[in-house]
Amino acid sequence: IFCDANAGWTPYQARQFTDATRAIDYTFEQPCTTIDECMSVRRSLDKPMVLDESVASLDDMLYIHRKGAADGLTLKISRLGGVTKTRQIRDLAVDLGFMITVEDTGGAEIDTSAMAHLSLSTPEERRLHAIAFHEWVTVRTASNMPPVSGSRMGIPDGPGLGIDVVPDLLGAPFFEVGS
Ligand SMILES: [Mg+2]
Repeated sequence: IFCDANAGWTPYQARQFTDATRAIDYTFEQPCTTIDECMSVRRSLDKPMVLDESVASLDDMLYIHRKGAADGLTLKISRLGGVTKTRQIRDLAVDLGFMITVEDTGGAEIDTSAMAHLSLSTPEERRLHAIAFHEWVTVRTASNMPPVSGSRMGIPDGPGLGIDVVPDLLGAPFFEVGS
């Protein structure tokens, strides 16, 4: 079980919650806005803590490591600047001992496929969980999507992200780059 407050509570509220749920086994995710606030909750917490909204860069990840502020990280691809930056932060975070969830703020086949690849290329013993976001939307932006079986998700077997994008569904591009 993950209890994720999405940075929405004060330390006071977070401590009220942890006191009321002491008998339940769960991981507490980003109860408060700042790393220091989350650390103040963590000091009296007997459960793992994961930070999500506080991880927006490599520097953030290194700061969390130096402070001992979390056991795990939720890495969101869009917030971190794309697949390559997420992979760099993920690789170093694994070496530093963090547990990892690769996610995003939402998405369909393209985003979920990137999440699935980054999740499954994380050492198994360091993986927490993943979300099949493409099952939450009704528009299909690609075929050959990440296969889902019960509670497990795989990666599509094509080249690159493995999916076949349906360009007509994407609409006009925001910008184009040419030579
Ligand atoms: Mg979260």
